[in-house]
This record gives sequence, structure tokens and C-alpha cells, in this order.
Amino acid sequence: MTAFEIVQWFVYLLASMLFVRGLHDMNAPKTAVKGNHVSIVGMVIAVIMAFVGFFYDSESGSFGQDINWTALVVVLVCVVVGAFLGARLALRTKSTDYPQLVSLFNTVGGGAAALVALNDIMGASDSEVSLVLLITAGLGVIIGSVTFSGSLVAAGKLQRILSGKPAKIPFKTFLTIVNILAIIASFVMLCVQPGCRTMWALVALALSFVYGLLFVFPIGGADMPVVISVLNACTGTAVAMSGLALDNVALIVAGALVGASGMTLSVLMAKAMNRKLSAVLLGGFGGDNEAAAAGDGPEGTMKETTADDVAVQLKYAQRVIFVPGFGLAQAQAQRDLADLGKLLEDKGVEVQYAIHPVAGRMPGHMNVLLAEANVPYEELVDRDDINPQFPQADVALVVGANDVTNPAARKPGTPVSGMPILDVDKAKRVVVIKRGRGTGYAGIQNELYFMDNTQMLFGDAKKELEEITAALKELGD
Ligand code: NDP
Repeated sequence: MTAFEIVQWFVYLLASMLFVRGLHDMNAPKTAVKGNHVSIVGMVIAVIMAFVGFFYDSESGSFGQDINWTALVVVLVCVVVGAFLGARLALRTKSTDYPQLVSLFNTVGGGAAALVALNDIMGASDSEVSLVLLITAGLGVIIGSVTFSGSLVAAGKLQRILSGKPAKIPFKTFLTIVNILAIIASFVMLCVQPGCRTMWALVALALSFVYGLLFVFPIGGADMPVVISVLNACTGTAVAMSGLALDNVALIVAGALVGASGMTLSVLMAKAMNRKLSAVLLGGFGGDNEAAAAGDGPEGTMKETTADDVAVQLKYAQRVIFVPGFGLAQAQAQRDLADLGKLLEDKGVEVQYAIHPVAGRMPGHMNVLLAEANVPYEELVDRDDINPQFPQADVALVVGANDVTNPAARKPGTPVSGMPILDVDKAKRVVVIKRGRGTGYAGIQNELYFMDNTQMLFGDAKKELEEITAALKELGD
């Protein structure tokens, strides 16, 4: 190792340590912003070091020799354009659209990792090719390509460019198994026939691309949280594989961190949604959507109410449970809900917030939203703890939540079947605030809205909460 290579190794190690520290700080809302900044510093250091490495010639051990100026210009243009587009997208995207953004970033990350690994395989001379390089770069190509196509479909579904409903693919299980066997075969051939490595790497790339499509197309909207999380873990793993092939410690550590934390989150999400992770990986889950497609929705009529009437119900309640969902985030009404909660508490009403792990569009979305509105942490109650308390609640006020409250989840044959829900229907009275009669993310009607103890308050969550609060104030003590 030359002096420069030793320095480079230590700088990458420093960047890796900053990634670990940053991730650790992201554990708690209080230190999360600091954690983000620490990680950004690590990433900037790693990028600068990689750039400096461009000018170093490892054969002569000197700087400024044999610089490939064309490649340098291409890299610089890509860095500037990529940074500009990434920053613009991130700054302009509303928080409710972050899952699509994360999916798009996964697409780009997976695609880049696959291309880097492909370049390692194709660019290595016969004397440089080793089994280790073929295994690591081969896995990078496969995982990166699956992530690329799978994340692209996930982003399309989340953005509603593609239908959120599970796509019916004829002979799906058979095709998936054949596809997986073909990927394994191409990987083995890549390793045992280094002379044809370019061809086998391209075959593996194409087959993996198809697997990404087979994996995500059949998955319905309600199951998307687990998919996004698995694809995120795949991006990290693909990057770590590229790092192993390139012998770059920063890439290995950054990729391993994303892979390991993404997989941990996937396991937790799958558990929270009562899904099997093995079934997710085989592209075989998502409920039977035929009932929904055939329009077998609940029967009956929805009973409408007014903000004034809801204010009266809340005033005479002893226990109220707020049930926030995606609509609360969409309306940016978290502060209005917190204000209403505070007003009720001042009047002696017991208030709690029921938190479903996949309410909203990101894991922990409701926790972040309500923390932003300074709702005391002890008032946020997880699904398992709040469910036994619904029968004692005088009013359950559902604000923009739909799928996570749908009693259809308790029956087989719907896209939400088996998903643990909040038992809102067991409250003495239920008031639902939403804008219209539309369905939730899973695309099916909610039985809760047609029940005898449920009343609908149609309108934007922010406006309706403001009106309830104003009416409650007018009612006095
Ligand atoms: P849903 O998407 O099921 O329902 C949200 C409801 O909010 C809609 O029915 C909508 O009805 C209403 N709404 C939208 N905007 C407003 C507004 N401005 N004011 C009042 N109401 C509004 O949300 P849930 O939180 O119940 O469930 C989350 C769903 O998203 C689950 O299916 C989950 O699996 C999925 N998902 C979750 C992710 C996660 O990580 N948390 C990621 C990806 C998907 P209307 O249009 O009539 O107003």
C-alpha cells in the first residue's frame, strides 16, 4: 500500500464511522436532525476522497499521470446534474409523497450499484478476474437490477401512475420459481465460466430485472410498506456488494448499514402487518382482490353529521380516542388535532391517540407528525395497547384514517385481510372526518362507515377540526 492509499483508507474509515454515528442519532426524534447532518458530512468526505482518487495512478504511485479527462468530465457533469435534480426533488416533495421519492432514490441507487458491479466484471482483465470478484460483483448486478425494476414499479404504484391494485399475472408462482432458478443458473455460470463473464452478467441483469417486475406488480397498495422496506434493504446490500468488488470500505459500511437496518425494519413491518417475509420475497402475497374488483363492498348508507354536533358529543364524553391516518398528514392538520386534544383535556376529558404502525405513507409517519405538533409522547398509544380500550371510549374520532380501521381485515378474501387493524368499530360512537366517499389506499370501501354507531363528517380535516374546536369553545364549560 502506498502512503496515499493508506490515507484514503483511513478517510473512508472516518466517513464510515460518521455514517454509524449518524444512524445511531437517528434513533430518537430529538437527535435525528443532528444524525442526518453527521451522515451528510460523512458522505461529503467520502465523495471528495473518491474524487481525489481519480487523479491518483496506483501503478506509478503518483498524481496527475494518465488522467482520463473524458471520464473526468462525464463524472463531473453527472455529479452536478444528479445533485441538482436530487436536491430539487427532495426540497419540492411534500412529506406525504416521501415514499415515492424514497422508491425513486432506491431505483437510482439499485441501478447505479448494478452498473458499477457490471463495469467491474466487464472492465476486469483476464488476469484480474477472481472468484471473489465474480461472486460479489455478480450479486451486485442481480440485487441492484431487482431493486431497480421493483422500486420503479413501487414508485409508479405509490404515485398512482400504475394501479395500486394487485396485478393478476397468469402462472405467477410457476413463472417466479422458473425466474429464480434461471437467475441462480446464470450466477453459477458467471462464476464457473469467467471467459464468458460479460454474457452471463448481462443475462443475470436481464433476468433479475424481470424478477423485480414479477415481485412488485402482484402486490397491492395496503402491502406496499413492507415492499418499500425490503427494496430499501436490497439497495444497501447491492451497494455493499459493489463495495466488496471495488474494495472500498466506505461503500461496504454504508451499504451494510442500509441493508441491515432495512431488513430489520422489513421484519418489524411484516410482523406488524401479519405478513410472512418469505412470501414477500417470492412476490406471492397481497390478499385476493377479486371481492374488491367485483365491487362486493359493504351495503347500507353513511350517516352524515356536522361539526357542531361533533362538538356536543365531545363535550359530554369522558374518554375520547383520536385515530389519525394519511388524511391528517395530507391536510397538515396535526396542530389542529393537538389543539382540539388540549382543549378537551382542559375540560376534563381523557384524550388518547391510537397509532397504527402503517397509518400514513411511511413507517412511523403518525409519530413524527404528532411529535411535530408537540403532542405528549405518553398520549400516543400503540395498536396492541389501545385496542382493548376502544369499548370504553365514548367517542372515537377518526381523522383521515381508512384502511387501518377497516373491519374487512378480519374476514378472508380482501386486499387487507389479515392486516391487524385498530378496533375503532368497538367504540360507543365513531365520527369519521374525510373529504368524500372515496376508498383508502388499498382501494376498497370501509365497512366501518356503514355501521350504526358511525357518523361521517365530510370535509377537509383541517377545516373540520377548526370548526369543531370553534364550536366547542362556543359551548363554554
Ligand atoms: P388510507 O390511505 O387508507 O386513507 C386515507 C384517507 O384519508 C382516505 O380515505 C381519504 O379519503 C382521507 N383524506 C385524504 N386527504 C384528506 C384530507 N385533506 N382531509 C380529510 N381526509 C382526507 O390511510 P390510512 O392511514 O388509514 O392507511 C394507510 C394505507 O397506506 C395502508 O393501506 C398502508 O398499508 C398504506 N401504506 C402505508 C405506508 C407506510 O409505511 N405507513 C407506505 C405505503 C402504503 P377522502 O379522499 O374521501 O378524503
